[in-house]
Amino acid sequence: MDYAPEPYADDNIFAKILREEIPAFRVYEDAETLVFMDIMPRVDGHMLVIPKTPCRNMLDASADQLAACLKTVQKVSLALLGAPYGADGISLQQFNEPAGGQEVYHLHFHILPRRDGDALRPPRQQGDMEAIAAEAERIRAAIAAAA
Ligand code: 5GP
Repeated sequence: MDYAPEPYADDNIFAKILREEIPAFRVYEDAETLVFMDIMPRVDGHMLVIPKTPCRNMLDASADQLAACLKTVQKVSLALLGAPYGADGISLQQFNEPAGGQEVYHLHFHILPRRDGDALRPPRQQGDMEAIAAEAERIRAAIAAAA
């Protein structure tokens, strides 16, 4: 194997969110992972799941980091299906390295709650912050209801 990843750089946006240097709409966390809203949502409710410990992406992540993230992905996804949140399905996205579509170099999984017949919005379009805040509140409530 000759893949040699760039070293992890702790000045990336998600590391700053973890250190609370920049704000985020946080919806869930446990000892190992944090979930917050994507501010350029491809669908309403677009979230990001990250490990609290550093790694660049799926390729240099430990088995424990991957397991913790996917456990949280499943937990949050299940809370959004059906009432009260009302998602009909979940799309999961995860990108690695520039050619793979990665733009922020701290491992993350995109959770996209889907509604029957919906369509993804184009990428890189700033969302409406009030709408994202309201969506975050609905998601927090759904996660609490499922607990
Ligand atoms: P990637 O292409 O690396 O998988 O996706 C990075 C994601 O981070 C994109 O969906 C983008 O909208 C999101 N993003 C970029 N900057 C910020 C930010 O400052 N805050 C939040 N919450 N999301 C961001």
